[in-house]
Amino acid sequence: MPEDLDSFDIAVKQLEKAAKAMKLEPEALEILRQPKRIVQVSIPVKMDNGKTKVFTGFRVQYNMARGPAKGGIRFHPDETLSTVKALSAWMTWKVAVVNIPLGGGKGGIICNPKELSQGELERLSRGYIRALYDVLGPEIDVPAPDVYTTPQIMAWMLDEFETIRRHPAPGFITGKPLTLWGSEGRGDATAKGGMYVLKVGAEKKKVDLSKATVAIQGFGNAGQFAMTLVKEHFGAKVVAISDTKGGIYSEKGLDFEKVLKQKETKGTVQGLEGTKNITNEELLELGVDVLIPAAIENQITGANAAKIKAKIVLELANGPTTPDADEILYKNNVLVLPDFLSNAGGVTVSYFEWVQNEQGYYWTRDEVYQKLDKVMTEAAKAVLATSEKYKVDPRMGAYIISVRRVADAMKARGWY
Ligand code: GLU
Repeated sequence: MPEDLDSFDIAVKQLEKAAKAMKLEPEALEILRQPKRIVQVSIPVKMDNGKTKVFTGFRVQYNMARGPAKGGIRFHPDETLSTVKALSAWMTWKVAVVNIPLGGGKGGIICNPKELSQGELERLSRGYIRALYDVLGPEIDVPAPDVYTTPQIMAWMLDEFETIRRHPAPGFITGKPLTLWGSEGRGDATAKGGMYVLKVGAEKKKVDLSKATVAIQGFGNAGQFAMTLVKEHFGAKVVAISDTKGGIYSEKGLDFEKVLKQKETKGTVQGLEGTKNITNEELLELGVDVLIPAAIENQITGANAAKIKAKIVLELANGPTTPDADEILYKNNVLVLPDFLSNAGGVTVSYFEWVQNEQGYYWTRDEVYQKLDKVMTEAAKAVLATSEKYKVDPRMGAYIISVRRVADAMKARGWY
């Protein structure tokens, strides 16, 4: 059967499957099937050539029963409302699985940041905040970085928000530069959190990570840090990595400094001496122990899932695996450590950042990592235990935990 790759359809399909497994009350499912609030804005930006261009932006607040909405803003040429809705649903489950007092949200702008100057990027970022000011704030909805958005963009957005509000509000946005009271450890938090989850997964699967080979798809914030962290944490060997243009493979293992230099000077990892160029599709199908999708949605599908040879898939991207693929991987005994658990380290340290901003009291990097380890390890163990108890895959185990927490909060509020 051909697979429907509309992201929001996938998110709803997953929710319905979990609802069935956990016998969720139908009224709770009815509420959780759609976002609480969707806002679409158009943002006029004066371009460097003097002409005005209008960009479309979205912010979706999926559910706020457990706290203010939280989630990143993506700048992507293929951004759609459906994707932002799906990602806001996944944020809801993500903050719930690590049990932090927040709800789920997500934002996006249809744009190609690679074609914008710094000035245009700044005006677009400020325009987004001006357009959405009324629905954002430390107690309402707290944005953060995501695909193609950076600490610098967070800094412009904070400045715009505070300019309108006319007083400081550092907890308005997370992933800020340290100089504007971002948190220690936020930069590599997504990949770092993934390491704690991988450790729990490897113990269950009896994979010795010190001897493991690893392939990573993606060279953004998550993929890049994962490359160094799997070695630092476990002594594992990264044999392949890719970016949007394609990947590289070396049986001996990659030299990270050379990879970084290649990317910096050539704009892509491809062509690095001593490595073989491979496609992004080939990377997914390598005979490695651990596969880390760390790019974008819908990479492992019904079409290629049967060819995945890894024992463990650590999803650092959001939504890399479709429901058809999930079934195939589960049948083939591949342990998929699901996205909204595996990449929850980013939002967890965002939460730490928000807490520190609200208190005006700052933690050391070691304190941040210790707290992160505790949160992620407990969540990973609970997810695997729940998946065993219900005899479902770990994604469904994670859903069962999160949906129960959100539904209980809604019930206590008298929503159903
Ligand atoms: N964009 C990240 C995610 O998808 C982080 C969100 C946040 O820190 O609020 O989890």
